[in-house]
Order: sequence, then C-alpha cells, then structure tokens
Amino acid sequence: MQTIYQKMETTELDAAIEALKAEVAEVKAKGLALDMARGKPSPSQVDISRPMLDILNADADLHDGNVDCSNYGCFEGIPSARKLAGEFLGCPAEQTLVLGSSSLLIEHDIAGMFWRCGSCGSEPWEAYEAAHDGKKVKFLCPVPGYDRHFGITADLGIENVPVAMTDNGPDMDEIERLVAADDSIKGIWCVPKYSNPTGITFSEDTVRRLVEMPTAAPDFRIFWDNAYCVHDLYDETDELANIFDLARAAGTEDRVVAFASTSKITFPGAGIGFIGASPAVIAEFSKRLKAGLISADKLNQLRHVRFLPTIEAVKEHMKKHAEFLRPRFEAVERKLTEGLGDTDCATWTHPRGGYFVSFDGPEGSAQKVAALCADLGVKLTPAGATWPYGKDPRDTNIRIAPSYPTVEDLEAALDVLVLAVKLVAAELARAERA
Ligand code: PMP
Repeated sequence: MQTIYQKMETTELDAAIEALKAEVAEVKAKGLALDMARGKPSPSQVDISRPMLDILNADADLHDGNVDCSNYGCFEGIPSARKLAGEFLGCPAEQTLVLGSSSLLIEHDIAGMFWRCGSCGSEPWEAYEAAHDGKKVKFLCPVPGYDRHFGITADLGIENVPVAMTDNGPDMDEIERLVAADDSIKGIWCVPKYSNPTGITFSEDTVRRLVEMPTAAPDFRIFWDNAYCVHDLYDETDELANIFDLARAAGTEDRVVAFASTSKITFPGAGIGFIGASPAVIAEFSKRLKAGLISADKLNQLRHVRFLPTIEAVKEHMKKHAEFLRPRFEAVERKLTEGLGDTDCATWTHPRGGYFVSFDGPEGSAQKVAALCADLGVKLTPAGATWPYGKDPRDTNIRIAPSYPTVEDLEAALDVLVLAVKLVAAELARAERA
C-alpha cells in the first residue's frame, strides 16, 4: 500500500515536507520533555495499592495458617499465596512456587536451570552445542515481542529466532514446521494474554497447537509469561484457554512453564512473583533454587494475600487500574486515528488490555521517527527493541507505552509522534524519487 506522500506529485510533496518541517520547528521551540518509553503504571495508579502498606504492623498476626511468616521456612511460598498463584496461572497450588518480588528473575533462573542442568532426564542445553558440531541452541521469539525476554536467552548464548505474530498469536504453521524439524530449538517465549507489545490474546487453537505439536527436541519448553492475565481494560475481556489443562490432556505438561507477578497490580518490582509448572519441573527447580535460597520474603507474601485474598479481589482491584489506563489507551486510538487514519502511513493494534500498543510505520521509518521524537523531547522505547538483538529487519515497529504520562502529556506526545511519522514518511517518499 502506498502512503499519501508516495501518491503526491513531486511539487505537492515538496510543499508538504516544508509545511511539516515548519510544524517540527514550532514543536521543538516548546522544549517538551515527555516519556512514552517503558510500561510503568502512573504514580497515581500505583497509589491505589498504598493501603496494603498499612496491613502489617508491629501488632499484626504474622501467621498464614500455621506458617510463621516472620521466620525461615516454607520455601515454596505461603499457602494462601500459592493458592492465589494457582488461580492466576491455572494450575493446582501444589504446582506453584511463590518466590521473590518479580517474575523476570524467575524466568531468568529457570532458563538458567535448563541451560546448566537440563530437566526431566534431558541433558543441559549448554551441552547441546558441543555434542552437535557447534550447532547453537535456539529459542523462538514471537515478534514484535518483549525485549527483556529476548535478553534472557541471548545472555545464555541461545540464538533468538524471530517468528511472526498474527491476530491469533504466533504463526503456528511456521512454528510447527520449525520445531518438528530441528531439535536445537528448545523453546518459545510467549506473552499469551494482552501480549507485550501487540496486546493480542492467543486463540484457543494457538494454545492447543503449542502443546500438541510434535517437537524434535524432547525438552522443548513453552515459557508462558502471563504477565497481563488480569489486566483487562473493559468488562468484556479477552479469554485465554487454560494451557495446563490442554497440556495435561496432550501428555505434554512438562513442556509448560508459566509465570506471573503482581508487579502491575500492586507495586512494580515490589510485588510477588510466581511460577507454575508440572510436578516434575517444579521439584527440579525447587532443588536447584534451594542451593541459594532458604526462603523468600514471606511477609511481603502475607500482606499481598491479606490485601488481595482471592482472584475475585484481584479482579476488583484491577478495575481501579483500568480506570487510569482506559482513557490513555483511548487517547492513543483517538490521536493516531485523527492524525494518521487517512494517510496509509501506519497501522497499530487496538488492545483491550495490557500495557502497550504496537505501531508500524512505513518500511525504514522507525529509527528515524524515534530519533526525531527524541529531538522534539519525546522519549520512545528504542526502535528495534521489540525484535531480538534490537534488529527490526524492516525498521517499522515502535512500541507505544501509554500508561505513565498524564492523559494531557500523552496527547502531546502522540501529536509529536504523528508529526514525526508524517515527516519521515514524506521524506522517505521524496528519497525514492531523488
Ligand atoms: N513479563 C512481561 C511480559 C512484562 O511486560 C513485564 C514488565 N514489563 C515483566 C514480565 C516484568 O515483570 P516483573 O516485574 O514481575 O519482573
């Protein structure tokens, strides 16, 4: 599809570029300082969890059932928190561990366990390369995706292999073809609900195919990061199939390792993080973790479950978050539609939850748009970050993170983004003719 700028006569295009440059000069003179870079809740949004901080005091009962949360013990997490973790992840409480204050470190640690130690009778991933003439271990990375996921596997020396996202989740035809043929492909990163950054939710068919597909690697793992499982913006929510039920039916439960945390429910980086997996994988992971952990912060677990005792309580709490987030997501949709709707310069996603909108401009535009926005005082997630190694081959994708700024600042930042996309698209159209 051609952009409006590609369709213009050259004189008209030159005039459009001049007009856009004049607008850019005006914006630059304003000296803006706005940030749409990372998916952080806004300060007032975080404040809704402050009452949790008053729950434990010097007089509080520090027991969860018969577990004394004020002392060592109960490595696997306190019973009430494991029950909640099971409800989040869709597996029995006994198949969960409630660990530290975030999920990313758990993902890092379990990837490290598969790498160093292997699991369920399979050799360490680390040993694969030497045993297979230097062939590297690989991980599938749906793109656009979450940069920190790709960072974990890259850090271990695993080769990240991009696979396209569709409206129903990652491209399953491609994935089935790849994993059936190549035993060096050991896993896939998934954010199955309100994915980061597309906001799409995997269809039931996608979930089923992921657990049912034959894999050449016997130790293929699905890293199921359900970070946004309760982060709905509307009463009508996206529904995600229960991967554990489907995997159990397919006899592939060891394949699934699920994660979540309360980072964007209570306090980012100071929530509770959890993992759910098959009994075998949980037992192995516990054994490895015990080499370096006596027990996690059970007092933090306790105040979390007293504040949010059930998944229903969590959902009520999330409605308060949605009050903050909905106007921001709606501002993104409105501003992009108003600014770019009839230009054929861009497409973007329309999430019903989560924290991000995925935006695609013309081929070869994203780096230039991000640089121009930075010059105009608007910080974006670095272009390319949504691809492994920061390399977006068509240079189109930008992740919009609307949660942190005020609605007013967000609107101002989106006006700048729209202007930058138009100027870059116009200049690309002009360069084609030079
Ligand atoms: N997973 C995904 C998909 C995320 O988007 C984020 C936060 N942006 C995290 C994990 C990090 O969560 P935590 O704070 O629990 O490490």
